[in-house]
Amino acid sequence: MRRLPIYFLIDVSESMIGEQIQYVEEGLATIVKELKSDPYALETVWISIIVFAGQAKTLVPLQEIISFYPPKFPIGGGTSLSNGLGHLMYELRKNTIHTTATQKGDWKPIVFLFTDGVPTDNSTAAIGEWKRNWQRQTNMIGISFGAETNLGVLNEITETVLLFKNTSAHSYKEFFRWVTASIKSSSLSVSNNGTGIELAKLTDDTILTKIDPDKMPPVQQGAVDTNFAIFSAQCQQTKKPYLIKYKRDPRPVNISGIDMHTMGYRLVGAFPVDHTYAEMSAEGVHLNNTIGTEELEGFPTCPCCGNQYGFSVCACGKVHCVGNEEISTCPNCNTSAKYGFGGGNMDVGRTQG
Ligand SMILES: [Zn+2]
Ligand SMILES: [Zn+2]
Repeated sequence: MRRLPIYFLIDVSESMIGEQIQYVEEGLATIVKELKSDPYALETVWISIIVFAGQAKTLVPLQEIISFYPPKFPIGGGTSLSNGLGHLMYELRKNTIHTTATQKGDWKPIVFLFTDGVPTDNSTAAIGEWKRNWQRQTNMIGISFGAETNLGVLNEITETVLLFKNTSAHSYKEFFRWVTASIKSSSLSVSNNGTGIELAKLTDDTILTKIDPDKMPPVQQGAVDTNFAIFSAQCQQTKKPYLIKYKRDPRPVNISGIDMHTMGYRLVGAFPVDHTYAEMSAEGVHLNNTIGTEELEGFPTCPCCGNQYGFSVCACGKVHCVGNEEISTCPNCNTSAKYGFGGGNMDVGRTQG
C-alpha cells in the first residue's frame, strides 16, 4: 500500500503558551482519533509532528496512525522558520520512499504549517532551498494563527495560505474539523488514484479564510514578535522558570484633540515551563528589547508557588516572584533586598516571543 505522508510543522514559540498550545495539543489528538475510524485514512495515512521555536525537533517520527500516541508540546523562545523548514526538509529526505522499477513510492507528502508570528531570524536561505528542492515535491498548506503580519512570508513558501482567526475554543474546534476533513478527502482521493490533495470546503470564513496571492501584505521579518510581549521569570521559592504573557491591546486616546492609539499590553497570564524550554530556545539571544512597565496592564501571581507578586524586577534585570517575606532573594543573581511597591516606570527586557 502506498503511503500518504502528512507532516505537521508547528510553531511552539512563546506567544503560543497558554490556551493556544493546549488547543493545538487537543486538536491533533482529535484528528488522529477521527482518522483511526476512517478505513481509507487507516490504510494510507502516515503522520509526523515537527515543532519549532528558536530550535526545531521531531516530536512524533513519521508513523502509521494506528500506533500514534498524542504528544505533549514544548514551548521555546524565538520563531526560527529557517530551523523549522530545515528540519522538515531533513525529515522529508530521510523518510520519503521514491518510486523505482520494483516499488511504488509515497504519494506526494502533505505539510500543514501552523505559525502565529513573524520569523525572528533570516529565513531566506532555507526558503530558497525549499523552493529548489521541495516545493513541487510536496503539497504545503501555510496557516497563520491570528496574525496577518506573517502572510507574506508564508506566501514565499506556498501558494496555499490561510488565515485562521483563533479567537475561541469553538474556532479551534471548527479549524481542526476542517483539517481532519481535508486529510480524509485526500486519502480517499489517493485511494481512487486521484490528485492526492483535496482540501475540504471552507464553510465559515469568519474562522478560516484563504488569502488571495495578489492581496498579500509585504514580507516582514523582524527580531521581535510585537503582537505579544513575553517576559521570562523565575520563582524565588521553587527556582522554576515561568513565562508572563501580554497581548497587544491598543486603546484609543485623545491627545490635544487628536485621536491616537496607545501601545498598551494586557495581561494574558503566567505559565510554568519545564526543561524543554531551554532546549527549544534560540541560542545567544540578548534581551536588548525592553518595554516599560507603564505600558503593561495587570500583573500576575506566581504560577509556581502562588506568591502574590509574580512580576518583581531585580536590579540585575531579571523578573522573579515575591511574597510576604521581609527580605527577598533574587533566584538569578542571589542579591537580597527589601522590595517596595512604589509607582514609576521600569524598562524590562522582553523575550523574542
Ligand atoms: Zn514563586
Ligand atoms: Zn537579580
